[in-house]
Amino acid sequence: MNKRIPAALVVACSLLLLGARPASNDHFSSIVIGGSTIDVSLVDDDLKPKQDELLTWVRNASQAIEAYYGKFPLTETSVNIHSFDGSGVRAGRTFGRTDSGFIRISVGADTTAAELHKDWMMTHEMVHLTFPSVPEQHHWIEEGLAVYVEPIARMRSGNMTPEEAWGEMVRDMPQGQPQSGAEGLDHTDTWANTYWGGALFSFVADVEIRKRTHNQKGLDDALRAILNAGGNITQDWELHRVFEVGDKAVGVPVLEELYDKMKDKPVTVDLDGMWKELGVSRQNGTTTFNDRAPLAAIREAITTGKAPKR
Ligand SMILES: [Zn+2]
Repeated sequence: MNKRIPAALVVACSLLLLGARPASNDHFSSIVIGGSTIDVSLVDDDLKPKQDELLTWVRNASQAIEAYYGKFPLTETSVNIHSFDGSGVRAGRTFGRTDSGFIRISVGADTTAAELHKDWMMTHEMVHLTFPSVPEQHHWIEEGLAVYVEPIARMRSGNMTPEEAWGEMVRDMPQGQPQSGAEGLDHTDTWANTYWGGALFSFVADVEIRKRTHNQKGLDDALRAILNAGGNITQDWELHRVFEVGDKAVGVPVLEELYDKMKDKPVTVDLDGMWKELGVSRQNGTTTFNDRAPLAAIREAITTGKAPKR
């Protein structure tokens, strides 16, 4: 989830809904990554014994972001961790303030280090920091990119294996196919369209950019260019501007063309054909790769982030 709201409102919300920002009894640590500082607050006392594990979790997620984007997106970010009874991670929300980011997330008091290692949500929330806030009807691109980039970023930083990351994509991506009554990405206000429709758009765009550039550029190049042009969560951009900057960076107008195709009408993607071309197969929960598949080099470039030598 993400939302850009004015700084004053964030403070108001945090006092009203989240409890006051770091109080004297908060556990508070900073993580430095590159030139960025991430301030981590444990809001509830029952998380104190887990402080080191929680910091490792936040650090791993920030390293996944750095692996994908080449840097952490904001100089200053605050992460407030609340607790609940039980285990797991839930209720992540990300906000942009004037010059910084703010992530609020909840962790169960019984959550193990292994569960934190497998968690996707912290990386998902941090992806939101890397992208500008766009008008509400395009919310699918904010969520869809976070869903698509998260496993790839974790794979590149060594937090997930390629089998895990690609296997999850094969398992989950069909949720992004348009359902009956769907009217395109901009006009279908459902959970599946917002999260997985947006992820499917991102995946198709990534493969298409790589096909048209002889695998020299990918969606990651477009997203880095958007971030480096100042398009992070603290900024409001029109979607047209976002795609224009991204397309210019990769030299092919894939984002704008794909958006024109998918914004107003349902488009079903031949996912089975794409997995076959990329050489990914998932049978009974086991994922295997075929390196002789026609687009195996594209799968490899998405996996590693490295363009093959021409
Ligand atoms: Zn989200």
